[in-house]
Amino acid sequence: MGDRYASFANSGPGHALVKRLGLPDPPRLRRDAALAGPVLFGGRPGSAVRDALTKLGADVIDTADPPHGALVFDASHLTDPAQLVALHEFFHPYARSLHRSGRVIVLGTAPENCGTTGHAIAQRALEGLTRSIGKEFGRGITAQLVYVTPDAEAAAESTLRFLLSGRSAYVSGQVVRVGPGHPPPPAHPDRPLDGRIALVTGAARGIGAAIATTLGRDGATVIALDVPAAGDALAAVANEVRGRAVQLDLTHPEAAGRLATHLPDGVDIVVHNAGITRDRTIAKMDAAGWNSVIAVNLTAPARITAELLDRGLLHDGGRVVGVSSIAGIAGNRGQTNYATSKAGVIGFVRAMAPELIGRGITVNAVAPGFIETAMTARMPVMLREAGRRMNSMAQGGRPVDVAETIAWLAAPGSGTVTGNIVRVCGQSLLGA
Ligand code: NAD
Repeated sequence: MGDRYASFANSGPGHALVKRLGLPDPPRLRRDAALAGPVLFGGRPGSAVRDALTKLGADVIDTADPPHGALVFDASHLTDPAQLVALHEFFHPYARSLHRSGRVIVLGTAPENCGTTGHAIAQRALEGLTRSIGKEFGRGITAQLVYVTPDAEAAAESTLRFLLSGRSAYVSGQVVRVGPGHPPPPAHPDRPLDGRIALVTGAARGIGAAIATTLGRDGATVIALDVPAAGDALAAVANEVRGRAVQLDLTHPEAAGRLATHLPDGVDIVVHNAGITRDRTIAKMDAAGWNSVIAVNLTAPARITAELLDRGLLHDGGRVVGVSSIAGIAGNRGQTNYATSKAGVIGFVRAMAPELIGRGITVNAVAPGFIETAMTARMPVMLREAGRRMNSMAQGGRPVDVAETIAWLAAPGSGTVTGNIVRVCGQSLLGA
């Protein structure tokens, strides 16, 4: 599963050779919790976002010589395309002077919430800027657009914390919508999920094991679920996080009902991570190959969520997180079944989020790109290399990158972040 090319390119002689030949140059990504800084802030005068950043403990400055750790621009006041020149004025002087693994965040108002056509156009235009900066800046620098509801800027705190930290190392070129309202601050900054029960499916290995570990680190009591055949690995993960293991095949006709019996105290966080591939072009695929993928990746999450809701087991203020894929956004040759199931996960999020927000339950999905796991280790070598390099980070992501993104969505402070599909793909060219 190791990326030998990245190890070579990060070595002294390897780096020199890679530079000389103009080959992909995968930077070492910073993955810690510290916030990038200093943060050069610009844009809307008197922006409440600036206060939110200061409250987080970010080192915010308005003018200073480079280098900076982050550039944050509140563009919500740009109500006409002619005013977009303000973006050039702010970013042009600093385009070359951000630290490695630096952060660019632009804040705006979602076009659907704008009162005039000019405002909606200008706000939609922001997406082109952040996506391009993500591709231009390199050196592990990420760029995101966050649409915040006017007068609810404080609700963006958990999102700003995640996006400014090293925990969002493999998330770039994304658009995140933060809704209205004021979620409660976490009771304990290091263990924001204390007292919460989290169910993680497919937790025996790969991304699921990382999700279990990360939610456990944040204080959740983890219920780790996987098929009986993965029992030993599952027990090891459950032991490590001092959680409980549930051996269950999610495609069993009675799986949802059986799962409910393992959740006597209900559940706060549900992460539908279990997934399989059975790759073939549709011309060569038999019905069994189609059905098995749809059953695990799509039917099971929908059925289990419905059962938990029917039985009143999903608590108010809960979190549901699906695991889609960039293949579900872009489509992929040889993956009609998989891409259909993963596009269905996006449909699940879009349909469920408005239904459940009244109870404070959020529904989001992550869409991983190329992540170094057993699933991607099985790919043909050329496809695997292409998957690793064809993104702004020139490397595959790690399971922990997906897990950290889910931990942000699961956090108490993310209570108004709902209906989002967040790609964890290093800004992959696939479906970009
Ligand atoms: P993986 O194959 O390493 O792990 C998947 C886990 O799901 C396994 O432990 C497996 O036993 C479990 N599982 C499968 N069928 C099950 C069932 N019927 N009931 C219960 N558990 C079941 O995969 P991974 O790479 O860690 O991927 C995790 C998720 O991320 C999947 O949904 C996958 O589609 C998605 N994803 C992965 C990548 C990647 O690059 N690895 C990219 C995009 C999306």
